[in-house]
Amino acid sequence: MPETDPFVVTPYEVKGRIDYDRLRELFGTQAIAPELLDRIRALAGGELSPLLARGIYYSHRDLGPLLEGFAAGRPFFLYSGRGPSGPLHTSHLVSFELCRWLQAKFGVPMYVQITDDEKFWARSGLSREETARWGLENLYDILALGFDPKRTHVFFDSRSIAALYPLAIRAARRITYSSVKAVFGFEPSTNIGLVFYTALQTVPAFWPSWSEGRSIPCLIPCGIDQDPHFRLTRDIAEGMGYPKPALVHSRMVPGLLGEAAMSTTGSARDNALFLNDPPKEIDRKVRNAFTGGRATVEEQRRLGATPEICSVWALWRSRFAPTEEEFGRITADCRSGALLCGDCKSALLERVHGFLWRHAAARERAKTWAESAIVTEAPHPV
Ligand code: SF4
Repeated sequence: MPETDPFVVTPYEVKGRIDYDRLRELFGTQAIAPELLDRIRALAGGELSPLLARGIYYSHRDLGPLLEGFAAGRPFFLYSGRGPSGPLHTSHLVSFELCRWLQAKFGVPMYVQITDDEKFWARSGLSREETARWGLENLYDILALGFDPKRTHVFFDSRSIAALYPLAIRAARRITYSSVKAVFGFEPSTNIGLVFYTALQTVPAFWPSWSEGRSIPCLIPCGIDQDPHFRLTRDIAEGMGYPKPALVHSRMVPGLLGEAAMSTTGSARDNALFLNDPPKEIDRKVRNAFTGGRATVEEQRRLGATPEICSVWALWRSRFAPTEEEFGRITADCRSGALLCGDCKSALLERVHGFLWRHAAARERAKTWAESAIVTEAPHPV
């Protein structure tokens, strides 16, 4: 990244005010153009996910050919994952929410990878038991978003290794230490678990093609900061005999404290709404959230506020305003000064509490089928 850029976006660090068009140019990805959105809408029966309609997903690699294939009768599958180091917060749900929508509209399988091994290797402060426990807790939250039990499969790394390992062996042979060092910034002190893990992370993108013995395209929704990880998967795909996975990239959901992304380590826990936060914590965090409002009520009524810099607006945009009509009204009223920040936060809190209440019930239901979704056996040896 040139020094003149006032922002930094890597798989390990996001800071500064991100120029998303410039970032796309730097990464060499394509914009999700209106024609592509029209194509998705047509294939999805006339609807568009709010995450696409509002430009939260804004960049892609090879999405056009994937959609063309689907239109010609060649279904794809979805792949997303989670490194379980603690509870999920609302911005973690963005990629899974798009997957859920795509699964519902396109009727395609979903593969979730829970990387409890990687988090153990990456976080020396977490025990094996803790990463495994968070893995299950996170899995319940993910499945509770509404995934179809018949079409959803889970690689829980430490428990799915027999299923993953035959392909991981082949992938590992194609990935050099110099390439993972360049992508992940490994040091001489990096443990060898993390080095091998890069092979395991590629496997779900190829597994359905391998297990079914036919070429099945993969679509990976992820934050744009994660693009470098999957470039490596794309680099080895054709050599493995499988299609390169297509990617769609989201913008980062800004933190409640007004930062570029939801950093949540240490004292930054106030930067995000965790799914296991007690209601009073949710209230406190939203009440203290950074906004795009004016210094006084009078000024805001007269001049209006700035939604684009507001962390509360970002929550409306990414999850809590389900219709375009409502989201448009909130945005227009914010800009005109008709809506004041205190009232806006009260309305958002009502929506957040309602979501968490429903989510808790859905999570209990997800527990009844989560175990059966975990893949534990390879369909055949390599
Ligand atoms: Fe943010 Fe709402 Fe205030 Fe607008 S009215 S700046 S969206 S809190």
